[in-house]
Amino acid sequence: MDIKNLSIIELHEKLKNKEFSVSELVNQTYKNLQAEMDSNFLVSLVEPEKDLDKKFDESNFLSGIPFVTKDNISVKNTLTTAGSKILSNYIAPFDATVSQKLKEANSIVLGKATLDELGMGGTGLFGFNGEVRNPKDHSRIVGGSSSGSAYAVATGLVPFATGTDTGDSIRKPASFNGIVGYKPTYGSISRYGVIPYAPSLDHVGFFTRNVTDAAILADATFKYDKKDFTSIDNTNEYFKNLNNPNQKIKFGFIKQVEEHMSGKLHDDYQTICDKIREDGHELINLDFNKQLLDAIPAIYMMISFAEGVSTHANLDGINFGLRAPGKDYADIMKKSRAQGFGKTVKRRFVIGSYQLKSSNQEKLLAKSKKVRRLIIEELARMYEQVDILILPPALEVAPLVEQVMGTDIEERKDNGSVFLEDVLILANMNGMPSITIPFVNYDNLPIGINLNAKPKNDLLLLQASKYMEDLIKKVVVKGGDFNE
Ligand code: GLN
Repeated sequence: MDIKNLSIIELHEKLKNKEFSVSELVNQTYKNLQAEMDSNFLVSLVEPEKDLDKKFDESNFLSGIPFVTKDNISVKNTLTTAGSKILSNYIAPFDATVSQKLKEANSIVLGKATLDELGMGGTGLFGFNGEVRNPKDHSRIVGGSSSGSAYAVATGLVPFATGTDTGDSIRKPASFNGIVGYKPTYGSISRYGVIPYAPSLDHVGFFTRNVTDAAILADATFKYDKKDFTSIDNTNEYFKNLNNPNQKIKFGFIKQVEEHMSGKLHDDYQTICDKIREDGHELINLDFNKQLLDAIPAIYMMISFAEGVSTHANLDGINFGLRAPGKDYADIMKKSRAQGFGKTVKRRFVIGSYQLKSSNQEKLLAKSKKVRRLIIEELARMYEQVDILILPPALEVAPLVEQVMGTDIEERKDNGSVFLEDVLILANMNGMPSITIPFVNYDNLPIGINLNAKPKNDLLLLQASKYMEDLIKKVVVKGGDFNE
């Protein structure tokens, strides 16, 4: 039974045509996942229910479709570790809203996917259960923090996986793995039951094989949720309205970004941009305040580390998670946290706490929030001129493990374009919808392209991405580098 590398729609068609039943699909997928457990991409497998065939509803694309979910997303009665040793025995007593929505859509969760601890990281090397490597080349990173989710979709084991994205944790690994990674507008998918990293930046989203599947998942999971006070109603008929062939789109590319691009990738961007124009769309050069671009990594670190340490104050070994023995509360808490957290988390907590010290709040944290506001205003100005902002999610293919091992975001060397590695964070600052889709392959290693739209313009973003996806498939440049 060949079920690997198929999209949601393709699997749905096969279920409908009775090429196989839901239970056959689910059991085979479970076996396939089990056979890959050595690669660490899952923290745990989730046993499917019995009697799956009775529930099959052929009017619903997600009915009977297996998936894996990032292990910071609660699934009732299931181990939910958030990639941290401190939560390595935590069984979630309830479903996150997104788990509930996917259950209501009749899709079937079969695994909890590895992540960099508490979502902090971008490599897949920092999960407490071990490293996840790039399936196309094991000497390279898969990317993170949603490492296991990206691995599962890139290897074609499941048609989709959930992820979370605080800086770029869905959209960057999507680039490194040649798959689609979609982070909708902030609040579109409830964060209730999702173990946070930094609540004002955290988003729930998906990895899929194509844009159409992302639209299907948007239809199933967007809903206002009163249990999440930042939730919004961003519902629409995304799948139904996905194709809009006569639409003329104004795309924008930031000049200060382009200045730092060169070589083959720059040529390939040029080629696709020319095609966009040939199709009658506009492509506008945008000016973005360079000082604000340069500030992205610092502002991200200041806000996310401060929110991160404050939001995880509850991981003290008392109410849940691992508890180290100690003589009183302070002693237990200190030892549990010392033993339960890894290096990256500890470093980020220390920097975060430094900013939360009352004498530093005004000087550091409040200032970083002001700069965030300026970035948001600058983005709003861009969207007075364009509908879609194009960004490079990466300038290179997935880096070698040895290049990034032991490093963290604050150790980046500034060479005048340091912001480029973190440019996707723009979309976490203002909550705009953002998607990475496959673009080029160099020596069989992919690099994606990233599209963004104004907050709440998810439909336009998905329509533009569908158009780009089709265009990229059509454009075969010399050497056949574009994705097939
Ligand atoms: N790679 C970024 C970091 O190191 C983003 C993480 C995320 O989006 N969760 O924090």
